[in-house]
Amino acid sequence: MSLTLLLQQIAAYAKKYARNPADIHLLAVSKKQPIEKVIALHTAGQRAFGENYLQEALPKIAALPTAEWHFIGKIQTNKTRAIATHFSWVHSVENSKIAKRLSEQRPSEFPPLNICIEVNLDAENSKGGVQAADVFALAEQCIALPNVRLRGLMALPAPAKTFIQQRATFSRLRDIRDTLIQKALPLDTLSMGTSQDFEAAIAEGATIIRIGTAIFDTPYKELRNYSDG
Ligand SMILES: *Cc1c(COP(=O)(O)O)cnc(C)c1O
Repeated sequence: MSLTLLLQQIAAYAKKYARNPADIHLLAVSKKQPIEKVIALHTAGQRAFGENYLQEALPKIAALPTAEWHFIGKIQTNKTRAIATHFSWVHSVENSKIAKRLSEQRPSEFPPLNICIEVNLDAENSKGGVQAADVFALAEQCIALPNVRLRGLMALPAPAKTFIQQRATFSRLRDIRDTLIQKALPLDTLSMGTSQDFEAAIAEGATIIRIGTAIFDTPYKELRNYSDG
């Protein structure tokens, strides 16, 4: 799908679910995509890009320093300094040790690093993220750190079979966010929804949708494998 078509689709869903389109931000997930495609999308007007693997992201960031780079992958402890230096957002904070390191290692001349806490909505052991019951404690720890700014919550739920199930899962993330707001945490971000389920995410209040395959039009199986090794 072209960027224009995707933005039209997002605008149509915003209207359908009575959302302000200005509150829904598109994060183009460029993991495993060749740099030429990322540059082409940037030239077409896309500003925010999401990457899962540090080693793969660094040359892309060097090629497009004016884009806004979001780290959305699993965070290894020994990668926090580079992540805190090269990204302006991190969506995948899942424990206080990582949050503390990101804050300590954020260069002092930069504005605070925007972070989201990743929530494991399916309580799957194999998945990243904190359990719902532990989100508040981690959020309070993050709020106390000087060089990160807790913006909200992120989730990557297991694929759901129906639209109703997709909405039900995303509404749980929204409920957790609302509970934190009631406890006076100033959150403005719900990072949820991918190519498969962004309509449901928009219906449930997503402010950042993370779209990879639908915008780059490349099945992942055709892409080379990366890891952060
Ligand atoms: C790969 C990925 C996405 C994008 O998924 P698509 O199905 O390609 O849109 C979004 N979020 C995270 C955390 C990812 O790893």
